[in-house]
Amino acid sequence: MQFNQRLLATFALLSLSGAVQAADDLVVYTSRIDELIKPVFDAYTAKTGVKVKFITDKEAPLMARLKAEGANTPADLLITVDAGNLWQAEQMDILQPLQSAVIAQNIPPQYRSASGSWTGLSLRARTIFYSTERVKPEELSTYEALADKNWEGRLCLRTSKKVYNQSLTATLIETHGAVKAEEIVKGWVNNLATDVFADDIALLQAIDAGQCDVGIANTYYFGRLHKQYPDIKVKLFWPNQADRGVHVNLSGAGVTKYAPHAVEAQKLLEWMTSPEAQNLFADINQEFPANPAVKPSAQVSAWGPFKADSIPLEVAGKRQVEALKLMDRAGWN
Ligand code: FE
Repeated sequence: MQFNQRLLATFALLSLSGAVQAADDLVVYTSRIDELIKPVFDAYTAKTGVKVKFITDKEAPLMARLKAEGANTPADLLITVDAGNLWQAEQMDILQPLQSAVIAQNIPPQYRSASGSWTGLSLRARTIFYSTERVKPEELSTYEALADKNWEGRLCLRTSKKVYNQSLTATLIETHGAVKAEEIVKGWVNNLATDVFADDIALLQAIDAGQCDVGIANTYYFGRLHKQYPDIKVKLFWPNQADRGVHVNLSGAGVTKYAPHAVEAQKLLEWMTSPEAQNLFADINQEFPANPAVKPSAQVSAWGPFKADSIPLEVAGKRQVEALKLMDRAGWN
């Protein structure tokens, strides 16, 4: 009896201290997986003493949860990938616009929301990959040229359900108008070597295995594969260097609308855009720092310099529905 009472008292104390601690901790909802984010928070805690708790899930459930929780949310910050998703979060009214001179100083305007609701933290290029056995880089030029007849039966694409391809298509529409963009996308679909892929890794492996000769994927997936298989017979190509540049997208974050610790959350977000944190955040997933003053890792730098498309990435969100319809009409599964 006495033992049980002591045990209960201990539990009460534990949960009390747990509650007190939780009230002071920052809470982050993140679609970035644990390994890619924990070292960043650990560094922030080491520097400031502020503890960061995080919940990882896919972006759609996280955003739905934020919406449902409303003013009762424990979340201070939302971290996710793709400007299309961040734009969506802004439309759902689950983020709060920030006025931050620090973020404005650190991140170029095309990589943040005009309202201040979100900012990019790291960049990834969605570029062309080719088989070093069956393609010479001189044969490649632009995304648009992958619609040409000479690539018939040689192209691999990921599913149109993935936001990355929706954002890419949105920038095609912005650049060329809907009619020409649809022609290009139809050309791609006509050139498919095989069914669309569920992920970029499988697509890159298909090029390596000889299922197709060219494809479009995000740079960090190639980085991961290349690290694992240094002999992979796939290389990256920077398209559209004579015109608009390579399609770049981002991972980013925003302070939630009802953040219990909005001021502290903004400080964390500002720190994440700083030179000190940018390499930590970008290098871990082989991405490019969104802060142009910060150099990418040696591995990422080895891919060589390139001109990036300077389209404001909000376009990815604004034209998302249009892009989805276009891809559907073109028969892109
Ligand atoms: Fe990804």
